[in-house]
Amino acid sequence: MEQILNTNARAVLEYLRGTYSHPTAMDVYEAVRQSKPRIGLATVYRILHSLAESGLIRELEGFEGVRYDANTNRHDHAICTACGALLDVPLDIALSEESLLEAARTTGLKLSSHEVRIYGRCASCQERDKS
Ligand code: ZN
Ligand code: MN
Repeated sequence: MEQILNTNARAVLEYLRGTYSHPTAMDVYEAVRQSKPRIGLATVYRILHSLAESGLIRELEGFEGVRYDANTNRHDHAICTACGALLDVPLDIALSEESLLEAARTTGLKLSSHEVRIYGRCASCQERDKS
């Protein structure tokens, strides 16, 4: 899959793989435009959609819309409710197999994966609160 990407798609994927910020489509557009000045926003949206379809990136629901993540391994996220920052949780939040299966059972779901989200104010927003 990856080897048939055109140069625009490759630029988008490379940008996403080089950041931990979970950018929006607009962020991706602004960044990729530096090296591909002729690329359009609609093209960026189309590329993001097809990269997500093929499993090379993930779409995440952020505080204010969709964010993109090139890390497709299972991991959890923290969201700042003040600025919308979306951060990777750098450790595995421990949940017992039983509670996951119990949660799945109560919803009639056959469990395949899970993710945890924590919410609060990020370090820089806390810093701003103090001043
Ligand atoms: Zn924040
Ligand atoms: Mn992530």
